[in-house]
Amino acid sequence: MDLETRAVHLPMPVVDGSSPISVPLYQTSGFAFDDPAVFADGMSRPDGAFVYARYSNPTVRALEEAIAGLEGGVAAFAAASGMGAINSVLLGLLKPGDHLVAQRALYGGTAAMINDLVARYGITVTYVAEDSPDALRAAVTPSTKLVYLETMANPIGQVADLPGMCAAASDLGIVSVVDNTFATPLLCRPLEYGADIVLHSMTKYLSGHSDVLGGIAVFASDELYRHLWHYAISLGATLDPFAAWLTLRGLQTLPLRMERHCSNARLLATRLAEHPAVAAVHWPGLAAHPSHELGSKLLSDFGGVFAFDLVEGRAAGERFMSSVRLALLAPSLGGVQTLVMQPATTSHRSLSAAELARHGIAEGTVRVAVGIEHPEDLWADFAQALA
Ligand code: PLP
Repeated sequence: MDLETRAVHLPMPVVDGSSPISVPLYQTSGFAFDDPAVFADGMSRPDGAFVYARYSNPTVRALEEAIAGLEGGVAAFAAASGMGAINSVLLGLLKPGDHLVAQRALYGGTAAMINDLVARYGITVTYVAEDSPDALRAAVTPSTKLVYLETMANPIGQVADLPGMCAAASDLGIVSVVDNTFATPLLCRPLEYGADIVLHSMTKYLSGHSDVLGGIAVFASDELYRHLWHYAISLGATLDPFAAWLTLRGLQTLPLRMERHCSNARLLATRLAEHPAVAAVHWPGLAAHPSHELGSKLLSDFGGVFAFDLVEGRAAGERFMSSVRLALLAPSLGGVQTLVMQPATTSHRSLSAAELARHGIAEGTVRVAVGIEHPEDLWADFAQALA
C-alpha cells in the first residue's frame, strides 16, 4: 500500500509468550471488530467486548476491578472525578418527587449538589445525624429512595454508624450510598456493613499524588451496577484511560501511604491538643472525639484528615495558614504532601451560617490533610507557625 495509508494504519504489537508487569495504558477511544455481532453486543452491556471508551476501556476496567475487589463489591464504574461518580449515582437513582435522607455533615460539593437537586428537580431531602438509625427511620417517607452517608465526614471526622444506618435502610427497602473517600477500603469496607453502593473521590488517597482527578462507584449487586452503568455512560462523566493508569500506579502504594498518613495524623493531632494556643482538635482517633468509640469499632485506623480551632478564632487561623512553611495552603487531600485550608471560606463556602453549624465548622476552623513527610518535620513546621 501507499506510504500515506501505511502511516495511518500502524502495525499493532501482539504480546505473546510473556505478559506486562504493569497494567498497559490503552489510550484509545475505540476498538475495531472482525465480527459485527460482537460489536453490537458490546454496546449493550458492560461486560461485552470493549467498543468505545465512554462505555469501557481495558485500563479503566483494570482499575474498576481492582477497587471493586478491595471494597468487596461485584463491580464498579469509574468516573472523571468524585463528583462525576456521585452525580451519576444521585441522578441515576432519583427522579422528581423523590425524597432522600442524607447525613447532616457532607462534603461541600455533595451538599451543594443536593441543594441544587432540591431547588431545580423537585426532590426533597431530610438531614439526620450520621449515627442515628432511629432518626433515619423517622425521616423516611413512602417517596424515600436513597440514604446518603460518608464514612468519616469532612472536615471534623464524625463517623457514620454504617451497620445501624445501612440495616435501617435495607429494612425499609432504600438504597444506601456511602462516600468512603476519607477511609479508603484499607480502613473501612462499607459493603461489609450493609451498604449498597460505595463512592470514592479517587483524586484523594486512592491515586495519592495530587496529579489526577477521578471517582468511582462500587456496587454490592450486579442489578444496581447494570442499571447505573447504562445511566453513567449516557451522562458521560467517564474516566480517561491515562487518569486510570496514574490511579492504578498510585493504588499500589496505598497501604504504605495510609499507614504513614494515619500515624502522622495521630502525632500532630495529639500534640496540637496539648498546645495552649489550640482550643479543640477534631480527629476521631482522639479519645475526646465524639465518634471515637464508634470509630474504634468500624475503622482499622482514623485516617489522615483532621481539623482544629485556635483559641483566638478566625484571625489566628488565618495567621496560622499564612505562617506554615512546609505544609501547603491548598485544597484537596490524600496526596503525599501536607495541605492546610479553611473550610468556611473554601470547600464549604456555599453553605449558609446555619449549614456550617450543622457541619460542626467554625469560621476559623483549620483543616489539615496530613501527608507522608517525616512527622517531626511536620511538627516543627506547625510549632513555628503556632509560635
Ligand atoms: N467526596 C469527598 C469526601 C471529597 O472530599 C471530595 C473532594 O474533596 C469529593 C467527594 C469530590 O471529589 P472530586 O473533587 O474528585 O470531584
